[in-house]
Amino acid sequence: MSRYAEPMARLIEELKKLPGVGTKSAQRFAFHVLRSSDEDAAALADAVRALKASLRLCSICNNVTDVDPCAYCTSPVRNQRLVCVVEEPTSIASVERTRGYQGVYHVLHGTLSPLHGVGPDQLRTHNLLARVERGEIDEVILATSPTLEGEATASWLASTLRSHSVKITRIATGVPAGSDIEYADEVTMARAMEGRREL
Ligand code: ZN
Repeated sequence: MSRYAEPMARLIEELKKLPGVGTKSAQRFAFHVLRSSDEDAAALADAVRALKASLRLCSICNNVTDVDPCAYCTSPVRNQRLVCVVEEPTSIASVERTRGYQGVYHVLHGTLSPLHGVGPDQLRTHNLLARVERGEIDEVILATSPTLEGEATASWLASTLRSHSVKITRIATGVPAGSDIEYADEVTMARAMEGRREL
């Protein structure tokens, strides 16, 4: 039996499902919520509910958005024929920080990882392949992280796209090998984009 009252144990259990949150952090968060005002606790619950109710994935690029298609995919000032492929919606921020990129995105929501049972079918690629097949894209920049999984994903995508008339490039290894592009600083990321090579 839990040493906490049922509502507290329930919140702790839910918080522990968050990435990087262990039992100790979950307990700290739960007690913080308990001590906070009714308004603050309600605002937190509302924000979680509203997030799920109002956000969806862009049908063109899979970015998380409240309007479909998303702001990138409908932007008249962005080059809609230049597509940067990233692993997660959060990776877009790393590329945007360079301020030099004027194309659009495609979010895979993961990488190939046979050990974790993630194969090509689990990645969200069908809408990217459809865009390429329709001849809507001139260049696909593979900006997955230089990790084992990121590299495997980039080579798989390159070989899948090769039969189509589209330029395929891979970001340079200015991003330290084995690291996540999310943590690349803007100068490193800008160099990685500028130094991209054709596959
Ligand atoms: Zn989009």
